[in-house]
Amino acid sequence: MQEHRTGLGWDSHRLVEGRPLILGGVELEHDRGLDGHSDADVLTHAVIDALLGAAGLDDIGTHFPDTDERWRGADSIALLTEVAGLLAAAGFAVVNVDATVCLERPKVGPRRADMRARLATALGLDPARVNVKATTGERMGFVGREEGVSAMAVATLTTAGG
Ligand code: MG
Repeated sequence: MQEHRTGLGWDSHRLVEGRPLILGGVELEHDRGLDGHSDADVLTHAVIDALLGAAGLDDIGTHFPDTDERWRGADSIALLTEVAGLLAAAGFAVVNVDATVCLERPKVGPRRADMRARLATALGLDPARVNVKATTGERMGFVGREEGVSAMAVATLTTAGG
């Protein structure tokens, strides 16, 4: 019997000087970037956790621990591609992903289509199935003070069976 599974992902990273700002596999023009062991692509990390959650496959830290030198500076889109393989091996197909990135600056809108395309390509999906939204913190909290960026995502999977 065909089954549907839903998963939730949330992540945050600190904004620091001297790092690129990479969101959804796309580098944005900005005076600061996100700090982390990998490329700190907070949006892709939230998407990965939503997918792993839906499949019941634990979380990103279990598969790609930040204590492992293999993942230092890792391209998170490559990690997402690896997760797509794990899902397929477990008998799941991705129905859709929806994500929201929360940041005060810069504006994400002009690069949103590029993010959707990069995330969708890593998952072998049509970009119509991978939605990306952006919102600010309205000057409130760590997002509003530009101390960091957060992202959340939901994913729906289906089993291959009919
Ligand atoms: Mg992260």
